[in-house]
Formats: sequence, structure tokens, C-alpha cells
Amino acid sequence: MIATRALLLRATPYRDSDLVVDLLTAAHGRLAALARGARKSRRRFGGVLDYFNLLHVELGRGRGALGSLGSVELLGSWEVLRTDVDAYCTGSHLLDLARLGTREGDAAPELFRLLLGGLDALQRGAHPASLARVFQVQALARLGYAPVARHCPGCGVALGVAAAGRGVVLCRGCAEPTAAVLSAGAVRTLQAAAELPQERLGALRLPPALAAEVVPFLDAALELALGRRPNSVASLPGFGRIDPPPRGLVP
Ligand SMILES: [Zn+2]
Repeated sequence: MIATRALLLRATPYRDSDLVVDLLTAAHGRLAALARGARKSRRRFGGVLDYFNLLHVELGRGRGALGSLGSVELLGSWEVLRTDVDAYCTGSHLLDLARLGTREGDAAPELFRLLLGGLDALQRGAHPASLARVFQVQALARLGYAPVARHCPGCGVALGVAAAGRGVVLCRGCAEPTAAVLSAGAVRTLQAAAELPQERLGALRLPPALAAEVVPFLDAALELALGRRPNSVASLPGFGRIDPPPRGLVP
């Protein structure tokens, strides 16, 4: 039997009354388990087997590869994600990335901690659109696809104005000539996102002009790392419009 803290990543209907749940745990990574009766009655597991709840679960060995969910206890919850639509969409994206970025049974303590940090930041009022991108930068690094460093991974020069390589920021000399240019401000923003401590993930707010450079780069990096574009990206909140300067003020 396994007893551990867990987050629900996905619940899939199974037969008439059951659910198959994907859970993220620190020590055992992603685990799939059969939750008997959970589909028929939400009260089956005390009504707490839900997204954005921190759970303590007990899993027994089921038949075959699928474990069987025993008891579920509520340790805490991120309530703002149930009431704020931008926070909800962002939180759902975090769960989606955690699911796509983990393999069943592989320990994922860093990603588990990162996910808790991301949900905590949303609960404390972080700007959802910015938090999603900070989380992406840090999740990519934990999956072995760090998208940005202080120096160019090709030649070691300190990065200023740079270029969007395939999933990684390169100096313009190392990038292909057709690669999109990233301003020094966009590079500094990505570096800052990569270096934020887990308890301060909400501290960075991306201005719309920099987000316009950073977002396409991160979308491409995610697609490369995960092998496909996560569906939840499409529901992420935007950064607002970049207004042109008012007429008459342009020299
Ligand atoms: Zn270089």
C-alpha cells in the first residue's frame, strides 16, 4: 500500500460508477488508480476527490497495473481557483503540464513542489497570465529542457539581445539567421522567471509588450519538450492589448 500526499491531475469516467484518476505524488510521480464508486457518488470519497485539493491518499494494489484508491483525506485546497476564471484556467494548465511532463511511477519531487508553489501563488493573487509563463519556464527546466540560461549554450557568451532557437535562447551568432529576435528585456524576463524561488513564483508580472515576445517562444519550447502542444494553452488568459501610441503624439 502507498500512503502519500497527492493532487488530482485528471479524472476519467470508467464503467458505470467508477473513475480512473491520475494523481501526482512527490515520491511516486504520476499514479493512475481506480476510484470505485466515485462516478456515481461524489460523497464516495468524502466529496474531496476533486481538482485543486491537496489530498492524503491511500492506494492499494489493484488487479493489473491499476492501483485501487482506498481512502482520501483533504489536507487543504486552493479555493480561488474555483471562483476566478483566469486563475482556474491557469491552474488547469499547471495540472496539464504536470501530467504531460511526468511518467507513471517516476519520482517527481521537484515538479510536485513546483506545482504546489504555482497553485499557492495563484491563491495569493498572482497575475494568472504571468504565473502561467513563469511556471512553464521552471517546469521546462525540471524536465531537462531549460529554455534560458545566463549564457548562450552554444558559445558561452553572456546573453543580451538574443534569438529564439529551437526551445532555447541562443546568442544571435549561434542561432539560425531566420530565428526570431528576442529583445534584451525579453531575455532578462525569461532569466528572471527561471531564477524565481518556488515561494515567490507570483512575483514577476510580464508587461504585454514583453509577453508578446516571450509567449510564442515558450509555446514552441513546450511543444518541443512535450512532443505536442498542450490543449490547455489555448485557454490561458491573455496579457491585454498593446495599445499603439495615441495619434498626434507620434513624432
Ligand atoms: Zn552563442
